[in-house]
Amino acid sequence: MPPVQEVDIGSLPLERFRPAIGDKRMAAVEVVAAWARTGFSKIRVWNVNSTATGGGVAEILYSILPYARDAGVDARWLVIEGDPEFYALTKRIHNGLHGLLAQGEEPGEADHPHYAAVSAFNAVELRRFIRPGDLVLLHDPQTAGLVSAMVELGALVIWRCHIGHDDQQGVISQTWEFLRRYVGSAHGYVFSRDAYAPPWIDRSRTFTVAPSIDPFSSKNYEIPRATVHAILRHVGLVNAGHSDTEPIFRRHNGAEAVVRSRAEIVSNSQVPGFDTPLVVQVSRWDRLKDMAGVMQGFAAHLNGVADAHLALVGPDVSGVSDDPEGAVVLAECIAAWKALPPAKRARVHLVSLPMQDIEENAAIVNAIQRHAAVVVQKSLYEGFGLTVTEAMWKGRPIVASRVGGIQDQIKSGIHGLLIDDPKNLKQFGDALQRMLGARDLARRLGRNARRRAIVHFLGVRHLIQYVDIFRKLTG
Ligand code: UDP
Repeated sequence: MPPVQEVDIGSLPLERFRPAIGDKRMAAVEVVAAWARTGFSKIRVWNVNSTATGGGVAEILYSILPYARDAGVDARWLVIEGDPEFYALTKRIHNGLHGLLAQGEEPGEADHPHYAAVSAFNAVELRRFIRPGDLVLLHDPQTAGLVSAMVELGALVIWRCHIGHDDQQGVISQTWEFLRRYVGSAHGYVFSRDAYAPPWIDRSRTFTVAPSIDPFSSKNYEIPRATVHAILRHVGLVNAGHSDTEPIFRRHNGAEAVVRSRAEIVSNSQVPGFDTPLVVQVSRWDRLKDMAGVMQGFAAHLNGVADAHLALVGPDVSGVSDDPEGAVVLAECIAAWKALPPAKRARVHLVSLPMQDIEENAAIVNAIQRHAAVVVQKSLYEGFGLTVTEAMWKGRPIVASRVGGIQDQIKSGIHGLLIDDPKNLKQFGDALQRMLGARDLARRLGRNARRRAIVHFLGVRHLIQYVDIFRKLTG
């Protein structure tokens, strides 16, 4: 296996947050940053995961570590290695923790030797970088096997699990049993929701930290309205005449670039104009996101808001070889779309976004979310909906399911509308109709959502919480 690699994080100015969070909160951030600079002056803070690109963990690390470095913390990031057998196993663990394995498919005794061998290889590699006294944050099941080696080395070790399910029965609990033998000696544990911690974990050393977003990334930075329109016009999602504004976006490093790719759109009518209310769900083509259900609910239960259109937006699946299910789910959506009555079908558009340039993709998502009249996330299950936070930060009215982490993100009637049963399409249609029909309500919920995102779901809150956890664990 290739050696463990260190990811170049760079640094981004923490000061960027001031206009978004205000002077008062910024002053609190500065106090914590000052403490961190002194408290961590002699130690390094290592984050260890299994990929530098793609996936929520990489996205979160990119969105907080550069700011931690700017604050004066020596934050670093290492990526471990594995072979196909190891990743097949960790994918099974991932699915098992979400309750997505059939009984008997959960990892068991036969899987331990290989998992332990790959972990031992990576532990040796990590010793090249990590010193006694350093802080080590091990992310997700891929790194659980490194806990004891890092504790023996003399590091302060936190295992941070980003995956979880409210239910702890059956295959979920059996999958946790697999990990149990590896994580016991960690000094601390972090989960995204209280309910995601397995029942046997030591609660006195367990902390809850919700994921956050970087409000200044290509996905989330504030795009001027004319540029939003230029991007949507360019990718082909909105029909409008000529404009002189260029579809420009900002990259992670601050450089400007032009959106060059177009979206692949399944649609049998003209795409809507800028004035037509557009309902949007942005998701991977995954059954748990229930894109087909969103379409059926929109088509069958939205009466009286005749001019609204729906865009179901996901990544282009043709180039994504590691997600064969995506193509199948999109094909199912297209078949269901073809079966809609023609008048309904004319208002629904299935949109696949180009994936060659991930920052360009992010900027297109940004523009779509900013343009949306309502952002939907009607998932059947959701650990924590990043798309929900993204829409909250953009002040959009949201209709989502009352499942998993979404319940922590949105209080229904205050920051958006939640439907109790994600499979109940009538409930979904009614909530959507209410949101589309009452502008004042939509505006108020959108405003509240943005305020909540600013206080709870931006990277600075994440950093403050981590500093607090380290202080507690080190006394
Ligand atoms: N996303 C994207 N391009 C797409 C579809 C989705 O960048 O074409 C992003 C979306 O904006 C969000 C992430 O993928 O940041 C999905 O995270 P979420 O927590 O909503 O769901 P997950 O895919 O992790 O289950």
